[in-house]
Amino acid sequence: MLKDKVKALFEEPACGKNQAKSEKDRKAGCSKPLTPGAAAGGCAFDGAKIALQPVTDAAHLIHGPLACEGNSWDNRGSGSSGSDLWRRSFTTDLTELDIVTGTGEKKLYKAIREITQRFSPAAVFVYATCVTALIGDDIDAVCKAAAAKYGVPVIPVQSAGFVGSKNLGNKIAGQALLDHVIGTVEPDDVGPTDVVILGEFNLAGEFWQVKPLLDRLGIKVRACVPGDARYAEIAAAHTARATMVVCSTALVGLARQMQERWGIPYFEGSFYGVLDTSESLRQMAKLLVARGAPADLIDRTEALVAEEEARAFARLEPYKARLAGKRVLLNTGGVKSWSVVAALMEVGMDIVGTSVKKSTAEDRERIKILMREDPHMFESMAPRDLYRMLADGEADIMLSGGRTQFIALKARTPWLDINQERVHPYGGYDGMVELVKQIDIALHNPIWTQVRTPAPWDADGYLIETVVSFPATDAPSPLPGGERSRPQRAGEGVPTLERDVPPHPAPSAPTSPHRGEVMEVGATATVHQLPSTAEPDVSFAARHRKKFAESRVENSDPDYLARHRKKFKTTDADDMGEC
Ligand code: SF4
Repeated sequence: MLKDKVKALFEEPACGKNQAKSEKDRKAGCSKPLTPGAAAGGCAFDGAKIALQPVTDAAHLIHGPLACEGNSWDNRGSGSSGSDLWRRSFTTDLTELDIVTGTGEKKLYKAIREITQRFSPAAVFVYATCVTALIGDDIDAVCKAAAAKYGVPVIPVQSAGFVGSKNLGNKIAGQALLDHVIGTVEPDDVGPTDVVILGEFNLAGEFWQVKPLLDRLGIKVRACVPGDARYAEIAAAHTARATMVVCSTALVGLARQMQERWGIPYFEGSFYGVLDTSESLRQMAKLLVARGAPADLIDRTEALVAEEEARAFARLEPYKARLAGKRVLLNTGGVKSWSVVAALMEVGMDIVGTSVKKSTAEDRERIKILMREDPHMFESMAPRDLYRMLADGEADIMLSGGRTQFIALKARTPWLDINQERVHPYGGYDGMVELVKQIDIALHNPIWTQVRTPAPWDADGYLIETVVSFPATDAPSPLPGGERSRPQRAGEGVPTLERDVPPHPAPSAPTSPHRGEVMEVGATATVHQLPSTAEPDVSFAARHRKKFAESRVENSDPDYLARHRKKFKTTDADDMGEC
């Protein structure tokens, strides 16, 4: 049964990739064998959970071993304006004993009972994982029995990790909503301007930058799936007059089936970038008017677009001079591969490459239209190539997800998170201004000048053209009575590197003064005065200090360096990692 469901999801006719495939290739699916050792990007369970977890007033129960769930709190930055039940997640924590004795179903039933009694959720989503699918737990039957007993919707999600990738998991989640949720509630406030937004995750609360625009137009968001969604809103989503699909690879199948089942037309759009936000608002208004909304909605939309575009461009103007011509490497995918490209081109930035890893055929076409002369698209780039490109200065900044941030930082290149862990909202007109502001901050952060300055030593550890001098100091000693720790010679003081480099911190002073010793560091140093004793110090610590002092090797000793260079000569630095 699960096999048939997965097969049907692979054959999604609305999927851009599928449309370009032959009948035979479509049936073969989209999964590619994973590279051992590479980050696979999540299993089907992960994908299903990502697509459903932002439903805020529902409980999310993972039926499987503890490790499948891991830490659910804030693993994605979706914002909620209500309940925070969605963030905590629950698991049946299946153990070997449960698996051997076959008590998984019983444990699941008890877990649903406990959750409904303790947390009173609007619904419970139950996720299958590899282990529970392999041992044959019938989660459909358990969910049905628990829903009847406790009077709460309990939705089974057939998301065993082994069925495929994270993207397939998104589709499985959409199918679960269609099979068990949408159409189960009939609202009494249906209107001609109701819309459903699919694939909007409200990351960092960015949908809250768009919703006020819709409110001004009188467009009612019947349900935003899944960002900041309530279960009852999704259950009534079939009454909407139009659907907008934001992340087309995730829930386009759901949009297509809503059109077939309830006649709700859909379009694919984006709220990233000034012009894309305007275009999405226009398309939404057009679809709604075609389905019975007041005709003046189109004119009101044009007026709002004109006002907001003027305001956004005025706010972007100061950044154009600072960012024009700066080269951006975009390592993301999906709808962002083109919508962010469009947004950055609006301020005159150059796109030196954009990843089209999860992009559909339409996404690629849009990139080609936007970057007419040279689209610079790449499917995926190995970390080593990414590093080389950044280290060679082929891009001034990389925009990507957290997984590749250290490649940019290692190459001493500015980086900005535009994936799910981001903390700044980039949606709508205000979001575009925020994105450009954050790029400006990242690019012009003074840290880059400092980390790119060559170190004051060479590959062998010798100081380069460095003179260490001790400038004379006439500053009064902070010590009691003006005394100094030892007689100071002319020209002696805090060591200074006489080079044309930004100042490095002075060598730190010992933090643990020896017995009877006075430590003096600049004018603000703390004075440690331990009682002096005429007896020689024979303590354990003193003996070890002496031992280490005698065994210390002067690292400028040429013999010592020659011996060690020979020893490490055969070590391949590449063994340490990709870059
Ligand atoms: S692949 Fe299977 S076992 Fe691993 S996290 Fe996903 S569901 Fe759990």
